[in-house]
Amino acid sequence: MSTQTAKAQTHESMFDAVLARLDVAAKLMNLSEDVATILRNPMKQVKVSLPIMMDNGKVQVFEGYRVVHSTILGPSKGGVRYAMDVNQDEVMALAAWMSFKCAVANLPYGGAKGGIKCDPRAMSVGELERLSRAYAKSMKDVFGVNKDIPAPDMGTSGREMAWMLDEFNKVTGEDSPGVITGKPIVVGGSLGRDAATGRGVMVNTLAALKKMNLDPKSVTAAVQGFGNVGSHAARLLHEKGIKIVAIGDHTATFYNEKGIDIKAALDFAAKNNRVLKGFTGGTEIGANDLLTCKCDVLVPAALQNVITEEIAQNIQAKLIVEGANGPTVPEADHVLNERKIIVVPDILANSGGVTVSYFEWVQNKAGYYWTENEVNTKHDEKMEIAFSHVWNNAAEFKTSMRIAAYITALQKIGQGVTLKGNY
Ligand code: GLU
Repeated sequence: MSTQTAKAQTHESMFDAVLARLDVAAKLMNLSEDVATILRNPMKQVKVSLPIMMDNGKVQVFEGYRVVHSTILGPSKGGVRYAMDVNQDEVMALAAWMSFKCAVANLPYGGAKGGIKCDPRAMSVGELERLSRAYAKSMKDVFGVNKDIPAPDMGTSGREMAWMLDEFNKVTGEDSPGVITGKPIVVGGSLGRDAATGRGVMVNTLAALKKMNLDPKSVTAAVQGFGNVGSHAARLLHEKGIKIVAIGDHTATFYNEKGIDIKAALDFAAKNNRVLKGFTGGTEIGANDLLTCKCDVLVPAALQNVITEEIAQNIQAKLIVEGANGPTVPEADHVLNERKIIVVPDILANSGGVTVSYFEWVQNKAGYYWTENEVNTKHDEKMEIAFSHVWNNAAEFKTSMRIAAYITALQKIGQGVTLKGNY
């Protein structure tokens, strides 16, 4: 499908949002027009129809996607999401972000993303297994340990990765655990991978607070999302002494000025189908009220496009650390800049997940596994380096952290294009 068609399909193009920021960065850094042209066009786009026998005995056909945005710095890397709003345009945007994210984190990868338009919460385990296997089978010529490496994203976890790995190995007759990351530990996953994205959010938050001369122990935070990213982020920030005053997920949102007992919230969610509805550790508020509540640090770690221009006007936090991919619409960027709110952008803030995916891939290739402490130490070090690169570029180019993150990525990808002569 062409870029034009994809744009026409959606109301607001997320891929356009990526290009809008790419253009600003490209202009500021004087990026070669050739490099920009290459990056404006994802290198491969695959759409499949997946017929699945549902538990009711009827066949349902699901749309599956995989977009490889670039392989300039290495094999393409990126998750597979299961959600009802998955579409070509969204997957293109997410794939491009993966290219930039991997470059910012200095990983030897390009970027890709996949997705299936489905509602995983409304499907049985058997249906989800059949769907995951069908998807992996349909991608047998796309995925590859040195070619394109999927991982979990919204709506997927280690469980889906294990099914996909098994199917891929059956179809190809190989046994290469590194073809998929984010796997459960016993089938070749890495210690620390589960908490990695939340951990990256924590490391980036502490790095930013240090630059802002703020002591974590006197800082409050609100975390939107209590899934894989938000729950670990809230736990780890809390462990560093930050008072979490608001948490929320798709079922309920809570505020507590005195600080939410994060352990109690985690225990509650663990016993309650992994959702917060019914939690009593705070006053229930609206989902958007969390974004504008009184706090110092805001961590949007759930959905995309939640920080609109209007919400941006009302945010009280001094620092936003984007745990989700694309939580801020481009039109809100200038409001946040004018209001001098520092934004640690998604392609830096949530790169902890793919960083530990990279470690998982390295361990799979070596057939030798690291301790959790080794993983975490290496992760923190990589994240701190990435943060400083972006921070320094923001100062050098007198721009926001977001545009500076794009510049950091484009500097590397640009060099890759020039050195490889990939055209
Ligand atoms: N889906 C995650 C992301 O958006 C992780 C990707 C990966 O580990 O490859 O960064």
